[in-house]
Amino acid sequence: MNYKIAVLAGDGIGPEVMEEALKVLKTLESKSDISFTLQEALVGGSAWQEYGSHLPEETLKICDDSQAILFGSVGGPTDELNLPRWKDCEIYSILALRKHFNLFINLRPLKMFSALKENCILKKERIEHGFDILCLRELSEGIYFGDKETKEIDGQRVAFDQMFYREKTIEKVAHKAFQIAQTRKKKVTSVDKANVLECSRLWREVVSRVSKDYSDCELEHLLVDNASMQVLLRPADFDVLLCPNLFGDILSDEISVLVGSLGMLASASINDKGFGLYEPPGGSACDIEGLDIANPIGQILSAALMLKISFGLHEEHDRIVRAVEQVLAIKYRTQDILKGERGVKKVSTQEMGDAVCKFLV
Ligand code: NAD
Repeated sequence: MNYKIAVLAGDGIGPEVMEEALKVLKTLESKSDISFTLQEALVGGSAWQEYGSHLPEETLKICDDSQAILFGSVGGPTDELNLPRWKDCEIYSILALRKHFNLFINLRPLKMFSALKENCILKKERIEHGFDILCLRELSEGIYFGDKETKEIDGQRVAFDQMFYREKTIEKVAHKAFQIAQTRKKKVTSVDKANVLECSRLWREVVSRVSKDYSDCELEHLLVDNASMQVLLRPADFDVLLCPNLFGDILSDEISVLVGSLGMLASASINDKGFGLYEPPGGSACDIEGLDIANPIGQILSAALMLKISFGLHEEHDRIVRAVEQVLAIKYRTQDILKGERGVKKVSTQEMGDAVCKFLV
């Protein structure tokens, strides 16, 4: 079976970590009967330089012609963000792709690798049982997409951002959350602010109604302020964390720090048909660009997530995850996950990618 993948490495460390993810996919190809057609294209600042656009027609055509998008990251150094090459780069590339493909949910798995226990900021007793949380964030509505304006009222400027949620949208993400929970620990924690917000009251009501179709799953509702504490106090109690757009944006970043480094994380933004954009949730990390020290594991795990979600290749996903676990177990560490443990081996981006390939069986 052949799978067509649009490969959009982007800017900064994007091309460096992407190279390692592609190495892993090619190794997998050589050890199985699946094959990949990798269609590389420019996006972000690198596309702007070549085509004067952050998402050129040529790139979009390649994405349309693929079954999934493997994305690196885009954006420039924070002190250059007003240069045309970087200005609104994410809006014109990632957000435009989300819109074009109706990518309505974002999935971010946050699992503790036992070899990296020491890197977790929480006390040992809180992570005794590890954690395995899947943060599911609604991506298409909420306050980011409502009407917005700043106008003068009584002699001063007042800014407005409208938050909205359609019942059907909530229903759709809730079903997805329970369906995913059924393949995991069968628990959904839904996050809202139902004591104050109208959108949250509808959210809670619809999620509760949908939960009746999934009697094998447990449903817990948490107010977002409480949720932000509970995920740190008892991370092992969470399974699927279902969040509206704004709360998911914040909570997913909060929990990310538990894993130890942005460079370890993968994410998927998917649509109804299983088409997805897979990327490490970090940025282009221009501060370490070209130094061969970026951690490629997040990009490698994003590729693994693509195999599982968009192509249904669960076994191949697990093989990659196991290879990563083994490399961590023999204490290979890129700089970002190097925390003064004994007997660790500091490795470069390329060495980390090579090691994952070596353990891929
Ligand atoms: P960043 O996520 O790029 O970096 C934050 C810190 O994490 C830096 O110290 C960086 O070195 C480190 N880091 C990130 N990924 C790493 C990896 N794989 N290995 C080791 N260390 C890693 O955030 P930033 O510096 O605020 O943003 C840089 C640019 O990225 C900006 O232009 C921003 O707009 C853009 N950005 C893009 C995306 C995306 O493409 N999805 C997401 C966030 C930020």
